Amino acid sequence: MKLSWKPYTLQLRHVFAIANSSRTETPVVLTQIEHEGVVGYGEASLPPYLPETQESVSRFLEKVHLEAFGDPLQLEELWEYLDGVEDGNMAAKAAVDIALHDLAGKLIGQPWHRLWGLNPEKAPATTYTIGIDTPNVVREKTEEVAADFHILKVKLGRSESEDKAMVEAIRSVSDLPISVDANQGWKTARQALDMIGWLHEKGAVMIEQPMPKHDLENMALVTAESPLPIFADESVQGLQDVAKLAGVFSGINIKLMKCGGLREAWKMANLAKCLGMKVMIGCMTETSCAISAASQLSPLADFADLDGALLISNDCFSGTKIMNGKICLSHRPGIGLDV
Ligand code: MG
Repeated sequence: MKLSWKPYTLQLRHVFAIANSSRTETPVVLTQIEHEGVVGYGEASLPPYLPETQESVSRFLEKVHLEAFGDPLQLEELWEYLDGVEDGNMAAKAAVDIALHDLAGKLIGQPWHRLWGLNPEKAPATTYTIGIDTPNVVREKTEEVAADFHILKVKLGRSESEDKAMVEAIRSVSDLPISVDANQGWKTARQALDMIGWLHEKGAVMIEQPMPKHDLENMALVTAESPLPIFADESVQGLQDVAKLAGVFSGINIKLMKCGGLREAWKMANLAKCLGMKVMIGCMTETSCAISAASQLSPLADFADLDGALLISNDCFSGTKIMNGKICLSHRPGIGLDV
């Protein structure tokens, strides 16, 4: 197996703002793994609030030697090797793991959702994210997209008045269900529960990461009292975090760039379900490569936030599509790319 890669810069359609940053570009690294003429594709997405960069991914990938592995289907051994190359570097690991899964699926001749026994008809609607902005812009953006989606996602976690103004602006033009991502923005359990109660009345259906990621004690209080399911995002990175979050959150948001790719994501989803937790599949701004990979798991998710490729203007892949707001998996093998 031969690994190669190149840096690529995603251009965002709109300035993208969350609680403490905004940007117009996202750097990524695109990977390829070739084996006997078959090529698997992968991607590392590197938003600026996370520590990895195109340079750090390149440095990591230079240390990955797949030549010694003869069988691309031995994904467990390949993951153990990859994860042991160096600590961290989860997006870089995801870029290799996704390409390995694409390659393995192509060699078998099936897409991963089929290999995992999942029904593509069960893939949920994806949320569409309305970024933080002035009420006028929020109203405009919501009007622009409301007819094409079944559920909106809103980024909150600033002041109470700003948060409420965002939601009221959406509600002035749409009654779609809203999923709320507070990105750790609420500081006390009381503040979080007051906002969640208000949001519940406004038609919110779930809350992501209301409080700081390490404050599990107060998170558990919020989850116990909340009328809405509470999902971990920043509090859950990989497989090692899932078991300790049972009873603290109602569910987990799995992202390939956090956990190192599909092998770990699949295990996380199954462990969460065993623990009676809900599953959400999320993304960064990514091309259709990483989105198509994540979407393979989406039939077992309660919520999916896979709008990443819709937010960019220079997607260089085509695969899983969002049609009428629903995730439509392709029948192509591997991660389902159409190259
Ligand atoms: Mg989040």
